[in-house]
Amino acid sequence: MTYTLRSALIPVDDAYATVDVQIVDDRIAAIGSDLPTVGTAIDAENKLLLPGFVNGHAHSVQFWQRGLIPQLPLELWLADVFDTAPTELEQTYLGALGTAIGTLMSGGTCVMDHLYVIAGHEVESVAAAARAYKEVGIRAFIAPLIQDMPFVAGYPEGLKTLPHKPYHQSTAAILAIMETIVTELHEPDAGIQIAVGPTGFHRCTDALFEGCRDLSDRYNLCRHIHLLETKAQKMLAQERYGGSGVKHLQQLGFLDHRTSLAHSIWLDEPDMAILAETQSTVVHNALSNLRLGSGIAPVLKYLQAGVNVSFGCDGAASNDGQDMLEAIKIGSLLHNVTDPDYQHWITPRKAINMAAIGGFTGVNLADQVGSLTVGKQADLVLYDLKNLSLLPRTDPVKLLVLGRPTAAVDSVWVRGQRVVADGILHTVDASHFTQTVFDYSQGYSKPHYQTIHQVEAHYRRVMGLTD
Ligand SMILES: [Zn+2]
Repeated sequence: MTYTLRSALIPVDDAYATVDVQIVDDRIAAIGSDLPTVGTAIDAENKLLLPGFVNGHAHSVQFWQRGLIPQLPLELWLADVFDTAPTELEQTYLGALGTAIGTLMSGGTCVMDHLYVIAGHEVESVAAAARAYKEVGIRAFIAPLIQDMPFVAGYPEGLKTLPHKPYHQSTAAILAIMETIVTELHEPDAGIQIAVGPTGFHRCTDALFEGCRDLSDRYNLCRHIHLLETKAQKMLAQERYGGSGVKHLQQLGFLDHRTSLAHSIWLDEPDMAILAETQSTVVHNALSNLRLGSGIAPVLKYLQAGVNVSFGCDGAASNDGQDMLEAIKIGSLLHNVTDPDYQHWITPRKAINMAAIGGFTGVNLADQVGSLTVGKQADLVLYDLKNLSLLPRTDPVKLLVLGRPTAAVDSVWVRGQRVVADGILHTVDASHFTQTVFDYSQGYSKPHYQTIHQVEAHYRRVMGLTD
């Protein structure tokens, strides 16, 4: 399809310009003033045009656990998440739909889904999520979340002192499934990419990282993991490697320009230098980090060290929503309390760049998408500046980031396809989706948490928490 956006407001340096934008097929064909109308004319007057954001870290299946899990630190929260994990492929599909809709309606055009897969149905799980993303029309990276160590491996001294069985699948079997997923479902030309997603070093062997690295090299896949999200994980790195987990990942050859690292809270300055040197991306999930008490990622230091930083919502079990503008607001304002030098703070314009081009850098697509540049793929979002939440008309980018935009997205194009128009999603029937989720939720009953009782006393002891 072809479109001409008339009189859109775009940020340029520290000011704004009013421009026309032509979209031809999947590309931005021209940006200028008084362009001839090609295709469908779109009245973009009093609308702000920005490149789409990347939701750099999500777990779509956790859509079903919104508002469910108590406030606990990650290691205990995760026990409750596992106990209440959805088990039906239909829920995987609907969870991905919900995640896609939440991301799109808050300015995102791409999601990195660190996808929980149903044991024994790994390929079908990824296929279900991919189907949802294709139907909605969002760009998606699906990194099946894999591990090859038992649950208790994620606790300091866990493998030594907590009862456990070996992980139920071998490393080789997991890697074989991953390769099947890649050969069947990796479709870059359709906007769906598979990424390798070992959950993190806390529950993965070196062999799994090496196998994922090799798959990534063979098929040119992005790499996505959790990194040093909690103090317990830093203690584990010391216990397992006698030092830095980041250094260890570098030695395994896992860190490169295709690698994005969710959370990255408990890093030292030598670790930051490694991230800069390897051109790895940190995905900042500030809201989740607050919800789980994980800590404050040293994002200003990353930026000063030359590390690329993007934003993510994380799964809805530790966010309870999937709003990119909220993730950007909290993820930038939080750092004003970490550095008294206000010249280092993340301005709204800096924040939207981190979310857009920073996000696409993290998924190795920055040369193709992520900015308002002629020739790039058209992942574009129009915000309605007459929406009450973006009034009065002061500085639109400041108000978009610092305010509380509500239903302010007017239109979204992904790869040149208009998926949202006049504030309404046009690719799937959102009211049917809402009804389906409502019907599913009717059977809700208070969960019985069991796993937490097997690990809580151990966790309290190793973390030095006294009763
Ligand atoms: Zn996560």
